[in-house]
Amino acid sequence: MTETLRLPRDHVLIVGGGLAGLFAALNLSRPALVLASRPPQEGAASAWAQGGIAAALGAGDSPERHAADTLAVGGGINDAAIVRILTEEGPGRVAELAAMGVPFDRDADGGFALSREAGHSMARVARVSGDLAGKSIMETLVAHAVASERISRMEARALSLLQDGAGRVCGVLAAGEKGLIRIEASETLLAAGGVGGLYAVTTNPPSARGDALAMAARAGAVIADPEFVQFHPTAIDIGRDPAPLATEALRGEGATLTDRKGRRFMAQIHADAELAPRDIVARAIHRQVVSGAGAFLDARSAVGAAFPEHFPTVFAACMSAGVDPRTQPIPIAPAAHYHMGGISVDADGAASLAGLSACGECASTGAHGANRLASNSLLEAVVFGGRIAARLNDTLSPPVRRSDCETPARLGADGLARLRGAMARHAGVERTRDGLRKLMADIDDLSGRQGEGNALTAARLIGAAALAREESRGAHFRADFPAAAPAADRTRLRLADLAPEPACAPALEGCA
Ligand SMILES: Cc1cc2nc3c(=O)[nH]c(=O)nc-3n(C[C@H](O)[C@H](O)[C@H](O)COP(=O)(O)OP(=O)(O)OC[C@H]3O[C@@H](n4cnc5c(N)ncnc54)[C@H](O)[C@@H]3O)c2cc1C
Repeated sequence: MTETLRLPRDHVLIVGGGLAGLFAALNLSRPALVLASRPPQEGAASAWAQGGIAAALGAGDSPERHAADTLAVGGGINDAAIVRILTEEGPGRVAELAAMGVPFDRDADGGFALSREAGHSMARVARVSGDLAGKSIMETLVAHAVASERISRMEARALSLLQDGAGRVCGVLAAGEKGLIRIEASETLLAAGGVGGLYAVTTNPPSARGDALAMAARAGAVIADPEFVQFHPTAIDIGRDPAPLATEALRGEGATLTDRKGRRFMAQIHADAELAPRDIVARAIHRQVVSGAGAFLDARSAVGAAFPEHFPTVFAACMSAGVDPRTQPIPIAPAAHYHMGGISVDADGAASLAGLSACGECASTGAHGANRLASNSLLEAVVFGGRIAARLNDTLSPPVRRSDCETPARLGADGLARLRGAMARHAGVERTRDGLRKLMADIDDLSGRQGEGNALTAARLIGAAALAREESRGAHFRADFPAAAPAADRTRLRLADLAPEPACAPALEGCA
């Protein structure tokens, strides 16, 4: 028996309790129910962010300069108008976070102490206690959300979008502690994070498996640029799932990338050496690992004894595996980290279906193009979370009508492991037509055996778009098409554009 909860007409249903979902909730003047599958410290990548939040906050910096850096790494397909909004509204949103109580690191004059990260032409990343930006920002926002009378919270995992006869989104079907629950709402905001968990090696929380992307796609929403998955160059390679991250700020501090003999390899590959754009560093490290030469991050002289104080999270991760980063190079490998693609939205976060908005990593605003500039994602979450709230505050939503949805099938543990392996092998740092065809065959096979769950649908979107893009651009590298095509186009597709039609199982049990 499925329970039904109908929210009053003025309420907004927010799926996801990371930075995007909570910042939107806190900026709404309407009441909001925030649905999250896991508590923030376990389920939200936001709480794991180490570097910080990028914005033009320092002397000599400007939104124009930040925009130019964002466009320079984006592979020619960023939406320039969206980048302008991101960089112009960014400093104000960071100031709001500070006013809410986020204890950003300060310099002697009381200004923001800023780090420089790869792809940025100057120091621009506001941080907290070294590498604790995400944890601290989330603790501050959760405290405000708990104190707010307008915000209520529920732990449940959304499975499918409810739609009325006209296709308007009217809430979600979710799996909670007591079983399935239909949560009906006049406005639904998806803020359920990324897709890294679809890959065998990832820095993302396990719940980041593309649920929002798949739910929106199955409901008929337009999806943008799903093939663009960013691989973080320096996940700490100690066999842990998810892989702990060695923040880019370490390279900003002067840490070097070396092979197992201590020889640096980035200077021959790019003029910016260790601070080259992420995709270039990730590919270089991937090749080092595949060739057997090994890849290490050596922070012994750059950070040394200051490690426990300046980078406590990285220090703890290394020490737990018996690597002392004060005296030893850190073994590293690239890991699936961030999804530039997602649910296609406009400048105010509206998706292509009535009643549906999307924000944060599950959305594709066009800000990042083919490759995200480091620390621009927390910024995107607050800038567009704020804009969505402003739009919904001015919207009189229609009453919820009778609605329905399909229940996606469940991918078992073995199926998920097989999918994650296939994604890492064939849709990873380097891709080829043959590999991507193998991936699509695996997805079809799993879908035929187990029905098409959200994970398979999300993987299908990524694989199909990667196969169709016969060029290399940003984070999408095709070894069989290593050059960029002359025309720089974004991908926009609907699930119905892809064959075969996904089969939905009629019932769901113990959806994981
Ligand atoms: C280790 C790490 C370090 C990073 N460092 C930085 C950094 O320094 N700077 C930067 O800008 N970016 C960084 N990023 C990226 C950034 O953290 C994310 O892109 C951003 O936080 C995404 O925010 P979000 O709110 O969209 O998603 P998340 O913070 O991931 O939140 C998603 C929420 O959705 C919930 N959820 C998921 N599926 C469902 C479902 N089906 N039903 C209900 N709830 C669901 C989750 O439980 C969670 O509450 C980092 C990412 C990682 C993994």
